[in-house]
Amino acid sequence: MTIPFLDLKAPLQELKHELHNAFERVLESGWFIHGTEVTQFEQEFARYCHANHCVGVGNGLDALHLILRAYEFGAGDEIIVPSNTFIATWLAVSFVGATPIPVEPDARTYNINPELIEAAITPRTKAIIAVHLYGQPADMDPIIALAKKYHLKVIEDAAQAHGAHYKGQRVGSLGDAAGFSFYPGKNLGALGDAGAVTTNDAELAKKVHALSNYGSQIKYQHETKGFNTRLDELQAAFLREKLRKLDEWNERRKAVASRYLAALSETNLVLPLVPDWADPVWHLFVVRSLERDQLIAKLADAGIGTNIHYPTPPHRQGAYAELNYALGSFPISERIHREVLSLPIGPHLNALQVGTVIDAVQKASR
Ligand SMILES: *Cc1c(COP(=O)(O)O)cnc(C)c1O
Repeated sequence: MTIPFLDLKAPLQELKHELHNAFERVLESGWFIHGTEVTQFEQEFARYCHANHCVGVGNGLDALHLILRAYEFGAGDEIIVPSNTFIATWLAVSFVGATPIPVEPDARTYNINPELIEAAITPRTKAIIAVHLYGQPADMDPIIALAKKYHLKVIEDAAQAHGAHYKGQRVGSLGDAAGFSFYPGKNLGALGDAGAVTTNDAELAKKVHALSNYGSQIKYQHETKGFNTRLDELQAAFLREKLRKLDEWNERRKAVASRYLAALSETNLVLPLVPDWADPVWHLFVVRSLERDQLIAKLADAGIGTNIHYPTPPHRQGAYAELNYALGSFPISERIHREVLSLPIGPHLNALQVGTVIDAVQKASR
């Protein structure tokens, strides 16, 4: 039996009929940009996130970028970001001309360690971006308390955590604003690129909407120099159908994660730690191994696909050579990047496949 790391096709078979209907609706409407599908998805997704507003945009990176731009952050400003994240979090900061200031994660939850944030705050600091990495909510209360103390904005990068709860509240409504990605492989994925901003700040929602549409709120009136990064009707129609399935598919991810956590506790792997206030949605199931390469090879021999999220931290990427961070600058992140391995997880896995992964991992990491 071969078990792919990710299979986007299998779960979509369940929704084939609904997705065809969504396509029909848009085709029949003859309307493709800024129409009723987008408006309705925005309302439905805002409600889902317990947020007052949602603005659809072209992708997750643009969602983060437009939030920072709407807050008018720019050159000379510093924005605190996790050292352990996908590079898009940092790129959004760079796009507005601000400087990403990395803060190390907790080595067991992989999320930014709130205890290390205060030391990174300077008079130039404007905001903290918390990433809910791998689907697990970051510890938001201490981050929000610090932000209040220093008058900073708190922005959630929720690209991997659609539906996750922090102390009973959905991500996307915890900070001042949140960026979501609907890249196909995310827990809520479109059939192409798409993203959204959620917020309780009506003014911010208006600004992001204008920025995403050439800086215009009224047709052919342009208050600012905006961009063209919009959620289109077709993707919104698909997303509306998939949103109805999101909780069920997240539950299936949770069931897989529970089995992995129970069955792999006796291995030599470091398993993800779930604080009691966190209800993660398991975008990824990430283990740590001191013998990662052997583990990958043994699992590949058993027909099991794995992946590394991520092999190189942003501060060691060529794109950030200008910041001159030497090897060892962020040792916790660097260690995580050396040791992490993502096991297959998703609504596509059946019980038999999960058992096969468990057997192979147990054999390979005693
Ligand atoms: C996927 C992702 C993004 C970017 O989303 P895109 O839609 O691919 O632009 C940003 N942050 C994190 C943590 C992500 O995983």
